[in-house]
Amino acid sequence: MKKLAAVMAAAVLSMTALTACGGEKESEALADGVLNVGTNAEFPPFEYVNDNGEPDGFDVALIKAIGEKLGVTVQVDNMEFASLVSSIGTKIDVSIAGMTVTEERQNAVDFSDSYYEAVQYVIVAEGSAIASAEDLKGKAIGVQLGTTGDFIAEEIEGATVSQYNKAVDAVNDLINGRLDCVIIDKNPALVFQSKFEGQVKAIDGADFEFEAENYAIALPKGDTVLANQINTALKELIADGTFDALVEEYIEGGNEG
Ligand code: GLN
Repeated sequence: MKKLAAVMAAAVLSMTALTACGGEKESEALADGVLNVGTNAEFPPFEYVNDNGEPDGFDVALIKAIGEKLGVTVQVDNMEFASLVSSIGTKIDVSIAGMTVTEERQNAVDFSDSYYEAVQYVIVAEGSAIASAEDLKGKAIGVQLGTTGDFIAEEIEGATVSQYNKAVDAVNDLINGRLDCVIIDKNPALVFQSKFEGQVKAIDGADFEFEAENYAIALPKGDTVLANQINTALKELIADGTFDALVEEYIEGGNEG
């Protein structure tokens, strides 16, 4: 009996210790009750500025739903895409921006579980002959600064790459003849195709042998507590159907800013 009581006491003690630990399991990034999120609202349907002048889109809705699960207020900062990664841990806590997980970025930040698969597309003017990787050589190519489309374009033999802060400015330069094509992620490419219908067309990156990419939330390096909290919230949103409802509302439903 005595032995059993001792075992039980030990069990109770270790449970208490666990609970105490559990109580501390909140990331310092959330200690002020605010999750500061950086994005670049030039990437519909993932992020854009809505009619009220506020950042909106799939990513913005997703991070707000995550914030709700974590019991914190979400504050979204609209900044340049190229400065997002380096601002994590100083100006912002995390970034959600249709951001592809790359090895280079992983040197500076950690990533959440991936939440979307994408690929680069090529936007050309209606009637353009560009159709394969070979056709991209020596061309004038527009990209969004610091994106995976930018990195791909810079590898293309003889290409002249123009970097833009706003993807829409690149598409406008394509339309007015300053560029031969724009390399950008699939969903924004499809949005621009419908926005500028009859003027441009978006071609699947598979035709150019571009590889699949995965979007994830960029997190402060080493903050495994925050990573766990965010990944748990993401899993819950997938399980309860919220995630699919947001895909339907923002990506498949044609609400594209
Ligand atoms: N997915 C691309 C990247 O991570 C583009 C993201 C963006 O322009 N918002 O580089």
